[in-house]
Amino acid sequence: MAKIRDPRFECMDREELRKLQGERLVSTVKHEYENVALYRQRMDEKGIKPEDIRGLDDLRYLPFMEKTDLRDTFPYGLFAVPTKDIVRIQGSSGTTGKPIVSGYTAGDIDIWTEMMARTMTAEGVDENSVVQVCYGYGLFTGGLGAHQGATKLGALTIPMSSGNTQRQIMMMHDLGVTHLCCTPSYALYLGESIREAGIDPKEMKLKNGSFGAEPWTEEMRVRIEELLGINAYDIYGLTEIAGPGVSYECEAKRGMHVNEDHVIPEIINPITGEQLPYGEKGELVFTTITKRGMPMLRYRTHDICRLHDEKCDCGRTFVRMERLMGRTDDMLIIRGVNVFPSQIEGILAGTQDVMPHYMLIVDRVNSQDTLEVQVEVTDAIFTDSLGRLEATKRYIGEQIKSVVGIKATVNLVAPHTMPRSEGKAKHIIDRRKL
Ligand code: ADP
Ligand code: ZN
Repeated sequence: MAKIRDPRFECMDREELRKLQGERLVSTVKHEYENVALYRQRMDEKGIKPEDIRGLDDLRYLPFMEKTDLRDTFPYGLFAVPTKDIVRIQGSSGTTGKPIVSGYTAGDIDIWTEMMARTMTAEGVDENSVVQVCYGYGLFTGGLGAHQGATKLGALTIPMSSGNTQRQIMMMHDLGVTHLCCTPSYALYLGESIREAGIDPKEMKLKNGSFGAEPWTEEMRVRIEELLGINAYDIYGLTEIAGPGVSYECEAKRGMHVNEDHVIPEIINPITGEQLPYGEKGELVFTTITKRGMPMLRYRTHDICRLHDEKCDCGRTFVRMERLMGRTDDMLIIRGVNVFPSQIEGILAGTQDVMPHYMLIVDRVNSQDTLEVQVEVTDAIFTDSLGRLEATKRYIGEQIKSVVGIKATVNLVAPHTMPRSEGKAKHIIDRRKL
């Protein structure tokens, strides 16, 4: 059985944990109220003062935070400490062209690192492990998050970042990698490529992997485990809260334990905002209770899920999140990148010679996500040379790459050929079988 890194917290008596969460919540609310204008204003509007929040039971009275709050206050408006105390920025795509950014103090980085160290300990990583990180390094939290956790555990850490599959396989083989970190779809692709290269995974030392950042299924888990001959663990996180390691699976593989001494999870009814009991399906909401740089109170993730508080076979008492069951908004996750159709619509609306009549077609080819953008051109485009069609296509592709951060195939279609809908237009066809 894999070790438990921090049984004092991970296996804490739930009553004691609730008390600790309550104390940390009270101090976070005070810190936020005193330092973040937007949140102070929201609490004032609701007529709530920090003193009114006396423990965990009062959490439900606090106002929510949303991704749009990060956008509206971009870049530094939600910082609760002076910028000189912030040592890192990480980011993720927002709902429009601007990314959303999160600021970390040195202490916040330590906490995030610790959450990832617990995660990877539960997955069997220790100082003897060789960890290959194929999540992207950069603003995206995946790469650095896994890197920090593995390094903290004293594992030999290989910062491969994403891409270049042949080189990934060579390193995995030659360096005797025991633990793989990447998106589940990339794990599948790697597994297939290894077989195609004529390598028997049994010749490799690979034992386990942390796979997350996008939705996947039990069927995919079985497939990855077979292809690579490993244990595949689910791992969840989001930039606004910390990054990967907000929750993690243990060897029971029956849901992801939430690092509850650092974040409080809630499930709410997405329409009324009312808190729902454990076991019920609804929108997942997180409150950070140890972060200082940019704390988040009741942050609405738009992820749909269920929470369970029964003790787990592994001995941990932290609640478990079920696999995510979808989203309450239209965010797509394509190759691990958050994509909002509104971002692409904005680009198309700002492009000459096309109409914002479009369709986004998402598919999975050879285990890799693909995005095709079909968009209608106007008659005007034909008044010029053919070069104008090509240039428009290229321009849209480049804009999507730079604003959204992913590669898309752009196909221009003739005027008046895209289906017009009465009522809400349908802009997405997702052919991936998830
Ligand atoms: P990251 O991609 O590092 O997880 P982002 O902030 O870019 O962080 O994206 C967060 C979103 O990604 C989550 O709200 C959720 O929708 C999705 N996500 C992250 N991990 C998982 C997972 N294990 N299963 C399903 N979806 C996930
Ligand atoms: Zn467990």
